[in-house]
Amino acid sequence: MLAAIPGMPATLALPAPPAPPTGQRQPKLLNRLVEALRSRHSSRRTEQAHLHEAGSDIRTIRELLGYTNVSTTMISTHVLNNGGHGVCSPVDALWPDSAICISRAGNERTEPAKADPPDQGKRFGRKEEREMPGWKGIVGRSFTPDEFDSYCHTLQWNAWRPSFTVLHNTAVPSLAQRPNGLTPQHIQNLEGFYRDTQGWKAGPHLFIDDKQIWVFTPLTVSGTHSPSWNKVALGAEMLGDYEKEAFDSGRGLQVRQNTVAALATLCAVLGIDSNLMHIHREDPLTTHACPGKNVRKLEVIQEVQDLMGERHAGEHLIQPNA
Ligand SMILES: [Zn+2]
Repeated sequence: MLAAIPGMPATLALPAPPAPPTGQRQPKLLNRLVEALRSRHSSRRTEQAHLHEAGSDIRTIRELLGYTNVSTTMISTHVLNNGGHGVCSPVDALWPDSAICISRAGNERTEPAKADPPDQGKRFGRKEEREMPGWKGIVGRSFTPDEFDSYCHTLQWNAWRPSFTVLHNTAVPSLAQRPNGLTPQHIQNLEGFYRDTQGWKAGPHLFIDDKQIWVFTPLTVSGTHSPSWNKVALGAEMLGDYEKEAFDSGRGLQVRQNTVAALATLCAVLGIDSNLMHIHREDPLTTHACPGKNVRKLEVIQEVQDLMGERHAGEHLIQPNA
């Protein structure tokens, strides 16, 4: 035993702990029992959570099935497309209905008059609108940036000529939700959505992902993408949620580069000043953040100008031989 130190509490001078009591095994058994009960409780909670999630999805899907036949087909296909990942999330099943900038692009028949506020009453148009002829059709082809450049050089803007471009993002789906980008089936679903569900005459002109540039609404006619600018601008939708997803690395960077390439081509072919590019959130009739805070307009414009400069310099390289 240690000698007591003056001024220090006597408890510092305790003897070694006593030997464990003979009932030492009892706490271990209790612990194991508690452990087992806890584990069972936990797995039951997990099951309940899964059931709840599944129920939520089913409700969502049922609600969605109340739309039109085409919409039903679209969503069924959409769910099937998520095969292998279990029930897709409600957010995913809702797309493109829940895609922010798509749902608020407005019906071009209401423009430029402001009789209909842009955020109201246009998502599921009246019957006569849904069945109204006049759908402008889609091109439905995908291009690499070089192919897109060649393609645009074959076009003629006789009936309609855009003055600038407007940049959007899909938000939903995000890049994470489309690990392989947009497929032909997605594009086909989108046509059904804009034409039959929305009852619009057109959609955006481009859907750009990390692999390709999809031409949707023909570039030579006006599209439907931003309430204020449908009549005067080309609309380009970038796949991704750029409130959250990176626009300067990974797949977001690929989308960015494809977008810059497409915009450089359109500016060159149409003689558009690249400084005139708009982003959807600048539309005074729009209240949301499309194309996301990670998309900085001036940076994109600068990159478009840089690329146009590089391409132009490339053309000049051949000239000395002429
Ligand atoms: Zn938008």
